[in-house]
Amino acid sequence: MYPVTLDLHGRRCLVVGGGGVALRKMDALLDEKAHVTVIAPEPIGAIEEKASRGEIALLRRAFTERDVEGFALVFAATNDQAVNEAVARAVRSRGLWVNVADDPELSDFHVPARVQRGALQVTIASAGGAPFVVRRLRQMIDRKLGPEWSMWIGAAARFRRAVRAMALPPGEAEESFDRFFAATVNEDRLSARVPAAREEESWLGSSAALRHDAPDPSCDPRAPGFVSLVGGGPGDPGLLTVRGRRRLRTADAIVYDRLAATTLPCDVPREIDLHCVGKESGNHPIPQEEINALLLRLAREGKRVVRLKGGDPFVFGRGGEEAAALAAAGIPFEVVPGVTAGIAIPACAGIPVTHRGESVRVTLLTAHECAKDGESHVRWDLLAQDPHATLVGYMGVSNLAHVARSLIDAGMSPTTPAAVTQSGTTSRQRSVYSTLAELRAAAERAKIQPPAIFVIGPTVGHAIDWFTKRPLFGVRLGVFNPDPALADALDRAGTELVAVTSPFTEATRLLLRGRPLTGWLFKTVDEVDALEDERNGAGISAEAIAWCLDPATAERARKLGWPVVEAIAPGMDPSRLLTAIAAGRGRLPVSAR
Ligand code: SAH
Repeated sequence: MYPVTLDLHGRRCLVVGGGGVALRKMDALLDEKAHVTVIAPEPIGAIEEKASRGEIALLRRAFTERDVEGFALVFAATNDQAVNEAVARAVRSRGLWVNVADDPELSDFHVPARVQRGALQVTIASAGGAPFVVRRLRQMIDRKLGPEWSMWIGAAARFRRAVRAMALPPGEAEESFDRFFAATVNEDRLSARVPAAREEESWLGSSAALRHDAPDPSCDPRAPGFVSLVGGGPGDPGLLTVRGRRRLRTADAIVYDRLAATTLPCDVPREIDLHCVGKESGNHPIPQEEINALLLRLAREGKRVVRLKGGDPFVFGRGGEEAAALAAAGIPFEVVPGVTAGIAIPACAGIPVTHRGESVRVTLLTAHECAKDGESHVRWDLLAQDPHATLVGYMGVSNLAHVARSLIDAGMSPTTPAAVTQSGTTSRQRSVYSTLAELRAAAERAKIQPPAIFVIGPTVGHAIDWFTKRPLFGVRLGVFNPDPALADALDRAGTELVAVTSPFTEATRLLLRGRPLTGWLFKTVDEVDALEDERNGAGISAEAIAWCLDPATAERARKLGWPVVEAIAPGMDPSRLLTAIAAGRGRLPVSAR
């Protein structure tokens, strides 16, 4: 058997048959952008639908020998042996290629199983003799090959283009490829990483140095690394910027605050070093000087370092101090701004921070420093006397009383609308809407905890609590590689979706520990199995519901001891799924929210 991979883009392919097997062949061909014709007297609904949308040509009649003419590949997938044989004969007598489902004798070619990571494909075949082992091997390799191979193969192709562009003699080019492979692939762990730009330059650079009189100084592998001070946004991973995400995925090391951990993308390659530098309210385990020193050390090792902070790095994030330390040490750095909590959280609490005619100024205030009497730098007098302004306070839960007293003493009306929001932008967001004088008592009654943002000013009176009113608000659902349409539908309905890849990355574990899930959405039995090793350690609360897209998957989840298992009718129609989850949501235990 001779393996080839075919580019079917725009090629004409024929599927004879109108059942489930034919449908799967047809879908696989459409994925490769082939032009597909289906011949079947009575095709199933899903095939009819594709035809009515013009995605395939459908001939609703019996097969005749002449039908095969003009096709690059022909698939016979009927349940009638005589028809399958007739198709095979017709194709062969014209010197074309035929595959007959489940019939190696009649087939000229077989379609291997494959594991895909971007442009990288591992295909598995048994000459049609033992498809059952092929399926199992595929699952095994799929579990072993991490998601990072997809980025890696992209980097490898770029590297090859760069080498090509230099027109090196073949021996030298091969040496650069060896360096790339040796440095980026861990054979024992079957893992790979995307190299830093500087590393790539150095692999190209030593060859380049041979060819040019003066080597490019930027190719010196000992040159200092690069630090990106990245704002992770307020907590919802969807609010991380595109550039921030890109930096995280191509870093060599990430130094993150605990508040920022929930914004780590699950597919951060496993090779990236993760350094947690703590920082929770009232508890600063690692002093700022040590964080600065860590950044300098990592950068001096030539690494691409991401310093990931909650919100925006320069808004109450001490990013300015880190930038100063880097600049003083001569280490190149950049700032990737983030969505700051003081803007995003009012938005998700439905409070416009400016409003025509009502508020023409927004003040971002830290309520932390101003607590210590005598040291306050806050001009309460100025803040209190501007009725057309919005005051947004960070780190304020324990200081609400002090803030309200100071403002009222300085002349602000005690009836000024005021609100406080905890865990904004996440599935646990909670808000209290009140007045300046009453806010502290109201927050205490509601047991508001850090992290929280408070807002004081006339625009609080315009609050529309849209966020917690969404049908699936409060649901935090884990799912392996979700289909984009499904992910979008769940997201719109207010689900906090944690899209993970299998096997788990360290980033996934961190982010699940940060906030427990209320449920898991399983598409296949394999996914239930894949989660089994991780289930106890990974922030999947004991009460989490297993939502299963078919009965076999539900059966497996029950067998493995998931306490609540809900089977959803197959087909994965997002609207049906949403209805099912919304209906079951009432049974979510409060402790899991
Ligand atoms: N650099 C960050 C702020 C760091 S100070 C930014 O730009 O947003 C930490 C404070 O931010 C917390 O005490 C809290 O007041 C606020 N905060 C951050 N995330 C929050 C969230 N999800 N909900 C409510 N407040 C949050």
